[in-house]
Amino acid sequence: PIFDEPTNEPVLNYEPESKERKNLIQKLKELKNKELEIPIIIGGKEVKTGNIGKCVMPHEHNYILAYYHKAGEKEVQLAIENSLKARKIWDEFSWVDRISIFKKAADLLSTKWRSTLNAATMLCQSKNAYQAEIDAACELTDFFRFNSYYATKIYLDQPKSVEGVWNRMEYRPLEGFIFAVTPFNFTSISGNLPTAPAIMGNTSLWKPASSAVYSAYFVIKLLQEAGLPDGVINFIPGDGSKIGDLVLDDPNLAGIHFTGSTSTFQNMWKKIGNNIDKYKSYPRIVGETGGKDFVVAHESANINVLVSALIRGAFEYQGQKCSAVSRAYIPRNIWAQVKNKLIEDLKDIKIGSPEDFSNFMNAVIDKKAFDKITSYIEYAKNGHDSEIIFGGNYDDSIGYFIEPTVILTNNPKSKTMQEEIFGPVLTVYVYDPSDFEKILKLCDETSPYGLTGAIISQDRDAIIKAERELANAAGNFYINDKPTGAVVGQQPFGGSRASGTNDKAGTIINLLRWVSARAIKENF
Ligand code: GLU
Repeated sequence: PIFDEPTNEPVLNYEPESKERKNLIQKLKELKNKELEIPIIIGGKEVKTGNIGKCVMPHEHNYILAYYHKAGEKEVQLAIENSLKARKIWDEFSWVDRISIFKKAADLLSTKWRSTLNAATMLCQSKNAYQAEIDAACELTDFFRFNSYYATKIYLDQPKSVEGVWNRMEYRPLEGFIFAVTPFNFTSISGNLPTAPAIMGNTSLWKPASSAVYSAYFVIKLLQEAGLPDGVINFIPGDGSKIGDLVLDDPNLAGIHFTGSTSTFQNMWKKIGNNIDKYKSYPRIVGETGGKDFVVAHESANINVLVSALIRGAFEYQGQKCSAVSRAYIPRNIWAQVKNKLIEDLKDIKIGSPEDFSNFMNAVIDKKAFDKITSYIEYAKNGHDSEIIFGGNYDDSIGYFIEPTVILTNNPKSKTMQEEIFGPVLTVYVYDPSDFEKILKLCDETSPYGLTGAIISQDRDAIIKAERELANAAGNFYINDKPTGAVVGQQPFGGSRASGTNDKAGTIINLLRWVSARAIKENF
């Protein structure tokens, strides 16, 4: 069964009174009632530095979930030594044995660990139960299973042998260690970035986002229970730039697997460039960064499909997905209808704690995010060719809550049409329907990113034009759907331009970045 193509983990719906909901509520209570002390984990051992950070709930920021120990220079050095030591042992595992560990992790996550990972994600990242389920439970399980499956395809792909000559390919891990740097917004990405290289035999240092150390800790505990050997993944929370500088200076750096901001990624790349003559081999650089994701509506658009794509795309998880819709182009002749439905539907949205299952939206991650997002709302309130047509209020007295906000602008290149906001703010530009082709060009040129986007149209000709004109504007392009919620194995995820190296997560493309193949020829 190890070689069968997996099916996607079914999404549970947590209906009121269901067994799943009761379990989840129980787990939320359990986690809230114990204040955890989270250690650094190096070579399988807990390390405590006494340099402490706090894990709080974004929707009630005075509530402390855990304290965590931050890694400093000594721990980074120790983690590097341990990952190099573990690499020798891990390399001696057959690939079948390695894969078995991740298959076991997937099975544990879909059963025993499911409610823990979901509850941790709800509390730590302020996600509602559905958003946690599609992320921490389903997508992470899918990453483990599909990566395992794609790895088998790589290992089994062998060159041709001829009479008297046996040719083979040995898909070796990279020489050195991998640096995995993970974001706050998806527990699944957090789990995928250190484990994808590990499936291919590499060992790593894992620096989780400071605002998501809590859920990341449960991921490393799950992997330990699945049998991951000590030192294969070394968990080193702490100050990002300090840890980053130390790690990138090490000659054994073999690659980075990154998801986060464009500026951090570019700084790491520059640093690697400056150090290039120090390294034993050229580090592989794999990163997924920002987005300024769009919806273009054609005048033939189905209004219900369009409004649902806007609301779900822009406001699920408070717009904190790299894939979230943040600019929309709507033709004037359908705008009145779209606007009415959009506003009516937005009025029904409830915002609050994820522990109340009726809330569609929760809090944004932290004070820094809250301040950044609200500065864009203030910008729109102060003129700048913009008008707020829905929302615009915010309050951080208890949690970091921001209303779903829709800005209407008459400047298609306004600041809020161009810059990544990473929050629940959607800017709409209304265009003359005869300008459809010009709008496609404009959409392509307006932002430096290339992550996701959608065309909403019932006219095949318009769809073909959009597909062609926006060929490089989105690594994930959707037709008559929201541009978020990619499913592993179905819509391989990633973008180019300022959005990243487009090494689609959870695919062969990504796994091949973590091998350095040796071709062996043997004569008989
Ligand atoms: N894969 C997610 C989606 O399709 C987005 C991942 C991200 O935010 O980086 O919505």
